[in-house]
Amino acid sequence: TSAAQARPTPRVIALANQKGGVGKTTTTINLGTALAAIGKRVLIIDNDPQGNASTGLGISQSDRGIGIYDLLFGDSRLEEVTVPTDVPNLSLVTASVELSGAEVELVNVERREYRLKDALARSHGGYDYILIDCPPALGLLTLNALAAADAVLVPLQCEFYALEGLSHLVRTIERVKRAFNPALDIQGVVLTMFDRRNNLSDMVAADVRGFFGDKVFETVIPRNVRVSEAPSHGKPVLLYDYRSAGAQAYIHLAGEVLKRERKRQLAYG
Ligand code: ADP
Ligand code: MG
Repeated sequence: TSAAQARPTPRVIALANQKGGVGKTTTTINLGTALAAIGKRVLIIDNDPQGNASTGLGISQSDRGIGIYDLLFGDSRLEEVTVPTDVPNLSLVTASVELSGAEVELVNVERREYRLKDALARSHGGYDYILIDCPPALGLLTLNALAAADAVLVPLQCEFYALEGLSHLVRTIERVKRAFNPALDIQGVVLTMFDRRNNLSDMVAADVRGFFGDKVFETVIPRNVRVSEAPSHGKPVLLYDYRSAGAQAYIHLAGEVLKRERKRQLAYG
């Protein structure tokens, strides 16, 4: 085995919710950046054909040659498809345009739910954390992420329809556990785009906490214009405006994730 393979195995976290626009990509980028800033070695895998995580980290369409498509359909090793980012300690596997065909192409390949898991078993790069940004669907790309992951992190937007579709997601996670990945765990639920001036946000938050209990992170990500501006500069909000409420919230979230990790390690060794 290589030196990288001899390093501790990464904690693999899939960021999933079949709803679009709930903050999956934003949370992947900024949680990843905050963990990297604390000194963790982090890899983000852009598993969405839209490639928003790649764009948000400043990798333009034309710079996306080899990427996750090659992990899923070839026998590429992780280090061959990984690119550095402007954030120290943070690397990226990009999504290229071919990925838009993957959902259909995967149907006929062997071990179609396990392509990503098999790729990470070939080589995991010795990262501390691998964050997988999922597309807004529960198709084969998301299934690959859930089969490869140790845990799912669910970003949830505080809006009226937030809870709708959630039971579908929970059932999917249960089904994946039974069929493909018995060890899959819910890492947590993070409330995003929270608007303090809106009573509805508070009501939705209370409902979600009622449903998921302490799986819901105490940290709530506020709606913050700096967060939405950052991707057009190809930067995480932590680099774009470190002092913004959004950046600070993601730093808190990273702290909470690490706290949960320490608890888990104490409990299970
Ligand atoms: P998803 O990946 O789930 O589709 P995104 O992370 O792309 O969702 O977020 C959807 C949109 O909302 C993006 O334009 C993003 O910039 C914006 N956004 C996400 N989080 C915030 C926030 N905390 N404050 C303001 N805008 C946000
Ligand atoms: Mg996205």
